Amino acid sequence: TKFSDLALDPRVLQAVTESGYETPTPIQAQAIPEALKGRDVLGIAQTGTGKTASFTLPMITLLGQGRARARMPRSLVLAPTRELAAQVAESFDTYAKHTKLTKALLIGGVAFGEQDKLIDRGVDVLIATPGRLLDHFERGKLLLTGVQIMVVDEADRMLDMGFIPDIERIFQLTPFTRQTMFYSATMAPEIERITNTFLTNPARVEV
Ligand code: AMP
Repeated sequence: TKFSDLALDPRVLQAVTESGYETPTPIQAQAIPEALKGRDVLGIAQTGTGKTASFTLPMITLLGQGRARARMPRSLVLAPTRELAAQVAESFDTYAKHTKLTKALLIGGVAFGEQDKLIDRGVDVLIATPGRLLDHFERGKLLLTGVQIMVVDEADRMLDMGFIPDIERIFQLTPFTRQTMFYSATMAPEIERITNTFLTNPARVEV
């Protein structure tokens, strides 16, 4: 498979080419076509497999087909730590650089002010840690009813850190009709339960 076989938005393809990537990694080759069909994806993959691009590239492609700068966020990516969320945000910026899509990085340890401003201005994509996302929600700053695509990255680490109740709560704040991409390195029983509850007929991709 080549990236050009994957039906990605040409602007995304251009950014990928500029990144110097020549061929999709196995998780990318398997997950991207399923995600572009609108299917839920359950990715069982470690870090270092290229999983970030496996959800970011189809997400940008799908969002790019709609209206840019929506008033409400259309996509939400959850990561267990500030560092991981920041890495996802960096990848998003790289792959979305030829589009007009906007993002906000919502992580703890920094003042609310700048994050509030971005949310008020309207962004397409939220990239967040679960606690900080719920902080914004509880402050009445955020509505998740416009979320069409939700990504949960490194769910096994979320489990280790005690974030599963937060994740369940956040799932419940988004529409039933959303598309979900859910990644975990392992499938613990608790993770299996969450995927059974919140994913619909997912394409299971294991690398
Ligand atoms: P990840 O597993 O998402 O943390 O990605 C691991 C590393 O692989 C990152 O540094 C990416 O920039 C890089 N990478 C992702 N996809 C590809 C690809 N198709 N070809 C070469 N490098 C890639």
